[in-house]
Amino acid sequence: MGNIHSRDLQHFHKIERALWKLFDGFGPLCGRCARKTLREHGAGKRDARESWCCCMIDNQVHDHWDTLNPVQAHFDRKWYARLEPLPMGRMPGNGPCPALGRQGCRLQKCRPVTCTTQLCSKMLEVLQRIGLYDGRTSAARQIEDLIPLPDILHALYRTGKKSQKVSPKDVQQYVDSIHTYRMAFEAVDDGVKQAALDAVLPDDAGEGE
Ligand code: SF4
Ligand code: SF4
Repeated sequence: MGNIHSRDLQHFHKIERALWKLFDGFGPLCGRCARKTLREHGAGKRDARESWCCCMIDNQVHDHWDTLNPVQAHFDRKWYARLEPLPMGRMPGNGPCPALGRQGCRLQKCRPVTCTTQLCSKMLEVLQRIGLYDGRTSAARQIEDLIPLPDILHALYRTGKKSQKVSPKDVQQYVDSIHTYRMAFEAVDDGVKQAALDAVLPDDAGEGE
């Protein structure tokens, strides 16, 4: 792995923020998913655990430790010691991720590339139901599987080829493409979007949503 460069991490964070805005379009989906996971886990139900909350059943921090630690240490050398694991015991897949807090991920910037770009099968199904995606929904995919994007994230995060140079133009192209897709997502009628969300994960109103 090469040295971390602040400018590259700034570029990565710019892209990450554009993706977070896009994912905001899924509204209550992740909250419903997390509560469903906790309900099913608490009830000892295991048959649907592959679809449980990704941050509760994955451990991306340790899976990507060698690349994540230098990046996070660049911002705060004590970042890992500051994480307080949720008191929920062990979950499938070596989860929960130690970065998971009560309000979601506690990493404020430069999360692992997988976390930044992944759309789970439930998100894919929502997109399919509103006509923005026509591929498979059986497993998670990365955003670059849905729309053409410059292949630059791993170079910015130093998980890719050391020699690859990323220009500000590449970064802007990435952000613009995400913005265009988000505009299409936001243009979908609210009722249609809500119906798709409810079909994928029913409203569990009354439980804090
Ligand atoms: S991204 Fe998907 S699997 Fe992860 S919490 Fe949200 S809905 Fe659940
Ligand atoms: S790093 Fe954050 S987003 Fe990624 S799995 Fe852990 S809690 Fe979830």
